[in-house]
Amino acid sequence: MQKMPFVSCEKLQEITAKYPTPFHLYNEAGIRRTARELSAAFSWNGGFREYFAVKACPNPFILKILKEEGCGVDCASMAELKLAEALGFHGDDIMFSSNETPAEEYEYARKLDAIINLDDITHIDFLAEHGGIPEKICLRFNPGGELLIGSVYMGQPDVSKFGMTRQQIFAAAQRLMQLGVKQFGLHALLASNAADNSYYPANAMILFELAIELHEKLDAEIFMVNLSGGVGIPYKPEQRMPDIRKIGESIETAFQDVMIPAGLGSAAITTELGRYMTGPHGCLVARAIHKKHIYKEYIGLDACAVNLMRPAMYDAYHHITVAGKENALCDHVYDVVGSLCENNDKFAIDRALPKIDDGDLVVIHDTGAHGYSMGYNYNGKLKSAEILLHEDGSFSLIRRAETLSDYFATIDFTEYYDKIVK
Ligand SMILES: *Cc1c(COP(=O)(O)O)cnc(C)c1O
Repeated sequence: MQKMPFVSCEKLQEITAKYPTPFHLYNEAGIRRTARELSAAFSWNGGFREYFAVKACPNPFILKILKEEGCGVDCASMAELKLAEALGFHGDDIMFSSNETPAEEYEYARKLDAIINLDDITHIDFLAEHGGIPEKICLRFNPGGELLIGSVYMGQPDVSKFGMTRQQIFAAAQRLMQLGVKQFGLHALLASNAADNSYYPANAMILFELAIELHEKLDAEIFMVNLSGGVGIPYKPEQRMPDIRKIGESIETAFQDVMIPAGLGSAAITTELGRYMTGPHGCLVARAIHKKHIYKEYIGLDACAVNLMRPAMYDAYHHITVAGKENALCDHVYDVVGSLCENNDKFAIDRALPKIDDGDLVVIHDTGAHGYSMGYNYNGKLKSAEILLHEDGSFSLIRRAETLSDYFATIDFTEYYDKIVK
């Protein structure tokens, strides 16, 4: 199957005439479409809400689009809380799904009246001391063991640092009820980039059963089942987008089968999707600047792992097309690489591509989530710009590229800053 970029070669020429490569480009139309498809799939649940995982794409212009589509935000750090606040998110608009949380972050999350998603039982006393215990709280569950759905291996919760054991969930709920909590949410994130339509329903069933047990044994009121993130996207051409409508229907069936009879029909289903929401709607646009022939054929780009870490970090596949050569024969085999002094700085290895010439625009697909945001500054390489392609075809710079003075800003108290930057 062919995988096409969301942006035409002509549009890319227009954008690169104004803004130099590399940059991440986001597709507003696609983000809105996905947000609408998700809410339609869960419209059977009156309280449904997506809390976009801010870490996936922490740009206020993107968050604003998602806010307009009715989403809340899922935050896990001070910077993410501040972003949420700046955009006017408050109270139940914010899920705070942190772990190993510093005191000041709990305090700030409580100040914003965010929904606290408690990662550990020891955080009860810590939160009581730093911000106070709210009347409504979410508990993060880790079922342990291996997660098998049918015969599909989904991950290994028993080596995941997140969440509480079953026993701890019950102990935590009891303690929190003594401290004045009136309503509980339950949360679990058991897989990442799950392509299978059965992951989300399986996660829902695990949480529904826990919710029912908590309700029956402790008489706990359940206001929310938080399915978290983890729904995947088709990075590879032969993969397919998970069918969110089917996923929603399966969860609806389970909800009717078990939650409603247990008297928990008023619980809201919430999600904290990141990758699914914006992943396919972003790409990294770079230029081929060198061609190298040694034991293999290399194409050197003006972007590097600093702009997109996933290939270096997880061996992740990102599809690549060459602007204007989308339909050309892929009769060359290249390693497409960046400029870091680090041999894992390879966007693709042994990739069949059309013949690439110096100056060609190379489009690295599916960087709309965990792309720009994961970047770093190794080798003193600067982070790129971010550009938003609007629904009417116009585009705007939503984050400028870093400059050397940004990079050296943290040492501006020494005599060196002026010598380097000025
Ligand atoms: C990262 C994360 C998400 C989003 O994960 P995706 O794979 O992008 O859907 C949601 N919730 C929590 C708590 C996370 O850490």
